[in-house]
Formats: sequence, structure tokens, C-alpha cells
Amino acid sequence: MTSPNQARIKKVLEILTPFYPNLKPALAYSNPFELLVATVLSAQCTDAMVNQVTPALFARFPSSKEMADAPLQELEALVHSTGFYRNKAKNIKALSKMLDDDWNGKVPAAMDELIRLPGVGRKTAGVVLSVFFDTPAIIVDTHFGRVSRRLGFTESENPDIIEKNIAELVPQKNWTKASHLLNQHGRTYCHARAPRCKDCPIRKMCPFFI
Ligand code: SF4
Repeated sequence: MTSPNQARIKKVLEILTPFYPNLKPALAYSNPFELLVATVLSAQCTDAMVNQVTPALFARFPSSKEMADAPLQELEALVHSTGFYRNKAKNIKALSKMLDDDWNGKVPAAMDELIRLPGVGRKTAGVVLSVFFDTPAIIVDTHFGRVSRRLGFTESENPDIIEKNIAELVPQKNWTKASHLLNQHGRTYCHARAPRCKDCPIRKMCPFFI
């Protein structure tokens, strides 16, 4: 039987669908390895900035083998503008080594395998799975979490719990679409500090409406 929250989130997604027709992530990539690295670099950074950095990065180190052997200082310089560059450089070097050692350079297509890679959490894995492998994924970032809480679909701040709560409300085939719609709504209307509630197309269904 459909619960009230299942019915409500279904309606929310129906209303938001025409508002956000371009749901594809804006990261540039030409294979799953590049998508994985670009997604790791996109933490705390805009996709536009990552897209400025990755052409030179992938021209210099085009495969996991070359990235694994890259001098750390050179990697740090190449990814510097994406912020947190020391950690990001360390992680993309380490994940490249693991890909090369354990997966023959191929990016695995399962959540459990992806999250074993250094620097890859469920959010990054979800992006790779949904974008490249067409596997439904709930991608919890700060926008998705905030909108889900305000709409009363979760009470948690914990991304794993938020993911579980939303997975119980949305049919699996719609997980990726729900992720992109709520994320985009958080960026466009449901801002952290000053949500545009009066203009919001789903305000009638929102307990947080102010
Ligand atoms: S009504 Fe306000 S709080 Fe609710 S989803 Fe819309 S912008 Fe966010």
C-alpha cells in the first residue's frame, strides 16, 4: 500500500520534472575513469571549475596506470584550483593504483566495489553508477539532504540514513531522477539561507513553507 509520504514525494517529483529538464551532470568526461576522477575532484568545487582542470590532467595522465605513477607534486599542481588539492591528488593517485592492481584498470560497476576505492564515497559512486552505467542511485549531497528534510521525507543529517529513507519512498527506477530533481531544486529555490518559498512550485506540499 502507498504511504502518505510515498504519494507526496511522487507528486513532488511530478511537479518538479518540467521545471528541470536538463538533469545531466555538467562534468566533462570521455570514459568511466575520467568520470570517476572528475567526480572526486568535484567535491566542494563547481563542475565548471573541474572542467577547466581535467583536460590538462587527462592529457598528461590518460589512464589509471599513468595516474597511479604520477609524481604527487605534479598532480597537486594540476588539480590545485579545485580546492583540497592535497587530499584530492593523493586520492586520485591511490584510487588509480587500486583500479590498476585490482581491476585491470577498469572502473567497477557496483556500489560495494566502488566505495572501496580511496576517496570514493557513496555519493561519488552513485554519480558514476547512474551516469555511466545507467544503474539507479540515490545521490545524497548537501542540497538533496536539505530539501528532503524540509519536505519531511527524512529527519536525518546522516547521508546513509537519508539515502535509506528516500529509497523507501521512491521506486528504484526513479532514484537517479529523484536525486537530480531534489538537488536542482535545492540549488534553484530551496537555498540553505533564504529559500524562495513564496515562488516555490511545491510549497503547498512542504511543511517547511515560510
Ligand atoms: S516551500 Fe520553501 S522550504 Fe519547501 S521546498 Fe519550497 S523552497 Fe524549500
